[in-house]
Amino acid sequence: MQAIETRYRTHTCGQLRQSDVGKTVKLAGWVHSYRDHGGLVFIDLRDREGLTQLVFDADTCGQAHHDESRKLRSEWVVSVAGVVTARGKDLVNPKLPTGEIEIRVKDLEVLSIAQTPPFTPDEHESVAEEKRLAFRYLDLRRSEMQLNLQTRYRVTRIMRDYLGDLGFWEIETPFLTKSTPEGARDFIVPSRLMPGSFYALPQSPQLFKQLLMVSGCDKYMQIVRCFRDEDPRADRQAEFTQLDVEMSFIDRENIISIMEGLLRKLWKEILGKEIPNPIPHMQYDEAMSKYGSDRPDLRFGMPLHDVTDLGQQTDFGVFKNAAMVKTIAVPGGGKLSRKETDALAEWAKGFGAKGLAVTKVTATGLDTGVAKFLAPIAAKLIERTGAKDGDLLCFAADKPKIVHKVLGELRLKMARDLKLSPSTEFAWIWVVDFPAFEFDEDEKRFSSTHHPFTAPLDADLPKLDSTDRACVESIKSKAYDIVVNGTEIGGGSIRIHRMDVQQKVFSLLGIDAPAQKAKFGFLLDALHFGAPPHGGIALGLDRLIMILRGITNIRDVIAFPKTQSGADLMCGSPSPIDEKQLREANIRIATPVKADTTR
Ligand code: ASP
Repeated sequence: MQAIETRYRTHTCGQLRQSDVGKTVKLAGWVHSYRDHGGLVFIDLRDREGLTQLVFDADTCGQAHHDESRKLRSEWVVSVAGVVTARGKDLVNPKLPTGEIEIRVKDLEVLSIAQTPPFTPDEHESVAEEKRLAFRYLDLRRSEMQLNLQTRYRVTRIMRDYLGDLGFWEIETPFLTKSTPEGARDFIVPSRLMPGSFYALPQSPQLFKQLLMVSGCDKYMQIVRCFRDEDPRADRQAEFTQLDVEMSFIDRENIISIMEGLLRKLWKEILGKEIPNPIPHMQYDEAMSKYGSDRPDLRFGMPLHDVTDLGQQTDFGVFKNAAMVKTIAVPGGGKLSRKETDALAEWAKGFGAKGLAVTKVTATGLDTGVAKFLAPIAAKLIERTGAKDGDLLCFAADKPKIVHKVLGELRLKMARDLKLSPSTEFAWIWVVDFPAFEFDEDEKRFSSTHHPFTAPLDADLPKLDSTDRACVESIKSKAYDIVVNGTEIGGGSIRIHRMDVQQKVFSLLGIDAPAQKAKFGFLLDALHFGAPPHGGIALGLDRLIMILRGITNIRDVIAFPKTQSGADLMCGSPSPIDEKQLREANIRIATPVKADTTR
C-alpha cells in the first residue's frame, strides 16, 4: 500500500525497496526498536504497513539530530527525512520486505513522546490478556492484529462487492427495536419518553429483512451488529457481526449456490484456495447419527457405529438394556493408559453419560476394559467398525440424545488430544433438513430449532395440525447451516410466507392468538398484504475471520471486544450511571452494586 503524501511522509514503512535507492523520502511512525552503537544509531520505524531501518550518522544528520536520536525510546512517534540507501551485502535482513535498504536520516522531527508502555508489540505473548485488553490500542499495534483487522475489512468489502453486483441492496434496520426471537435473552434499553417501556436490541434483523421482502425490495444484505445476552462462551461475544441476507422468489438451492459463490471468492482472494464445487449436503439425521453433531467436523473420520443389535447379543446389562449403543474406534487410542481412559469416563459424565465403556483392539481381538463382556460379539464389532490393532473402541449406551452428545464430543476430543492429523485443511458441508421443532423437557413445550419464521418442508405441512409429540418432532424444516471444520459459520432458512401457516407454527410453539398479536402482529399483518416466497441466511463474520486467519480467540478479530463476562476493560463498561440519568430513564436500582473493574 502506498502512502498518501502529507507533510509527515511520502512513503509508508513497508514500501521502499532496492529500486528506490537514491530517492529522498519522508517516513513517519513509531519507534519499534533502537540500537545505539555510539557513532551510529539504528531505529526500526514501524507503521501499519511494516518496518524500515533508519540510520542516524552525525555526518549526515548533523550533531543535534544525532544527539536527539539517542534519546528516542520505544513507541515515540517521529517523522524523518532522508535518503534511501542500499545496505551492505551481509547487512541485508531477508526477513523484512524492506530489508535490502535503510534510510540515512537527514532530518528528524519528534511528533510525540511516549511514556514507557506497559508492553511493546513484540512482548504480547508474555502479557496477560486482561492487560492487553485494558490497553487495547497498544495491543492493536501488533502486526498480526493489524492483519486481522485488514482481513476483516477485505472480507466485508468482498461481501459488499459480490452481493452488490448480484443486485443486493444494503439496507439498514433499527437497533432500537422489539424482541426478535433467536433463542437468546434480549439486551433492553429503557425509553425516556415512554416511562416503563423498553426497546430490545436486535438479536438479528430477522423480521425487518422479511418485511423488506414484503416491501418488494427483492434482495437485501447488511453487515450488521447483533446483540444476544447469552451466557459466556469462549467463541461468543454479546455483540457480534453478521452478514445478513434475504431474497425473494427463491428456493433453498438458490440461496445455497449464491452463498457458495461468495465463500469461494473469499477463500480464493484471501487464502488463494479452492473450495469444493458444489459443497456437499448432509441431512441433519445423518449428521447426528454418524457424527453425533449437527455441525460435524469432517476433517477426520471416526464415525459413530450403531451396535445396539450387537449389544443385545451380550450378557452385559449396560448394553443389553440400553435404548441405543454406539461406538467409535479411536485410531491409536490403544496407547491410552488405564488412568487416561478412566479420566475419559469421568469427562463423559459431564455430558450426561453414566460412564464410558472402552476396550482396546489388538491383533487377536479385544483386550482390557469391557473386553470380557464383549467376547461373543468381538469379531462382529471389529468387522462393523473397521477397527485396527492399536485402536480404542469407546462405547456409549443410553438414550439416543446422550449417546450422540457424548460420542460426538469424544470424537472431537480424541482428534484434539491424539493430534489426529486432518486429511484436509478445510472440510465443508451444508447440513439440511433440520427438525423444525425441539421439545423442551424442562418447559414441557416445543421451541423452534432455527426460529419461528422457518418454513416446514411442504410435505410436512399437514403435520402442523397434529397433537402427537412424535409426529410434531418428525416435521423437518427448510433450514440449512453451512459448516466448515466443525464450526457453523452460517445458517438460514426459507421462511413462512403464508399467514395461516405462520399462525399454526406460533400456536404449536404455545404462543396463543393474543400473544401472537402483541408480539408479532406487524408480521402477521404484513403476511396479509401479499408476501412473496422468500428466504435468507446469516454468516457470522467474527467466526469467518477466525477461520480465515486460523485464530482461536474471537477477541483477536474484533477491534474493541469484550471479556467473557461482557466487560470492556479499556473504557470500563458496563458502568453505573448517575442519579440524574437513572431518573431520566425512570429506573430505580434495587440493590446498588459497585462497579467491578477487575473483569
Ligand atoms: N436470523 C438468523 C440468525 O441470525 C439467520 C437467518 O435465518 O437468516 O441466525
